[in-house]
Amino acid sequence: MTPFEFLLPYSLDEALSLLDPEDPNVRPVGGGTAVMLMMKAGVLRPTRLVSLQRIGDQHARIARQADGSLRIGGMARLADIEAHPAVREGWPMLAHALRGVANPRVRAVATIGGNLSHADPHMDMPPVMAALDATVVISGPQGVREVPAATLCTGYYETVVRRDELITELRVPPQAGPGAYLKLTTRAAHDWPALGLAVVLGLQGERVTHARIFTGAATDCPTPLRNAQTILEQRGLSAPVLREAAEAAVAEAPLVADSHGSAAYKRQLLRVALPRAVQIALNRNRSHA
Ligand SMILES: Cc1cc2nc3c(=O)[nH]c(=O)nc-3n(C[C@H](O)[C@H](O)[C@H](O)COP(=O)(O)OP(=O)(O)OC[C@H]3O[C@@H](n4cnc5c(N)ncnc54)[C@H](O)[C@@H]3O)c2cc1C
Repeated sequence: MTPFEFLLPYSLDEALSLLDPEDPNVRPVGGGTAVMLMMKAGVLRPTRLVSLQRIGDQHARIARQADGSLRIGGMARLADIEAHPAVREGWPMLAHALRGVANPRVRAVATIGGNLSHADPHMDMPPVMAALDATVVISGPQGVREVPAATLCTGYYETVVRRDELITELRVPPQAGPGAYLKLTTRAAHDWPALGLAVVLGLQGERVTHARIFTGAATDCPTPLRNAQTILEQRGLSAPVLREAAEAAVAEAPLVADSHGSAAYKRQLLRVALPRAVQIALNRNRSHA
């Protein structure tokens, strides 16, 4: 292994000052679970790793705000988010989805900032955060900017986060209504998904006022299924409408083949997953009513 620097800054400003906008081999490290895999695979040969472990507990804080939204520090660990009482109560879809990410050992160290920055298309959190209308807070030498989680990813393993910036916070508005994330795997349940589908529905009685449906895994970036959303918003949630929405989703989603299945296989998964995800969301809603 080529020697590299491993730095442990004690503040966010210090961490930012150690990043390099030009050098892709200078990397921040959250939990290090993806960084270590990339190093073992030889696709990352860092010259400097900047650990975020000691930049301060405030960057790992998880708290419900007075306006009802949720703030999650970029260094919050996935296991801590999953177990947080405010998350379980107010954002049950997020807590459920986190339970299916990797395994407890990975979740105990992986951070939400590292998770969203990594932008492997198979990650479970990006479509969930997009469907929840979350905002990602990015800090850099020029200050702080906010980006909708739905537009964070720009391509295969690429995001809008620049090399000298860090994801420092996530802001999640109150969950608009029932939601579910369906992770369809071809091997073990906690494996990487062949298709991820996140659904959040705003309801007024039987009427759908707001539908957010995002694919993950089968598309390079989390992708909104706008035609399917519109069908639910205009026509409701009967079984024929759900089937029609699923066909619209299959027609509009730019599904790609990978080692988890062909595009044709993923189209069939999506056809089945959409009505099922909506049903799971509605069932969860009823059981909490
Ligand atoms: C065995 C195994 C199974 C897995 N299974 C799944 C799964 O089923 N579903 C799933 O979604 N994921 C899965 N993962 C991936 C896992 O979720 C990610 O590795 C993890 O979330 C990354 O978080 P981290 O803090 O460890 O990131 P790191 O490894 O520290 O960093 C990842 C990337 O983000 C950058 N980075 C880190 N922190 C920040 C920050 N705050 N701001 C900007 N850039 C940053 C790093 O430079 C690096 O490029 C699995 C991983 C393993 C090892």
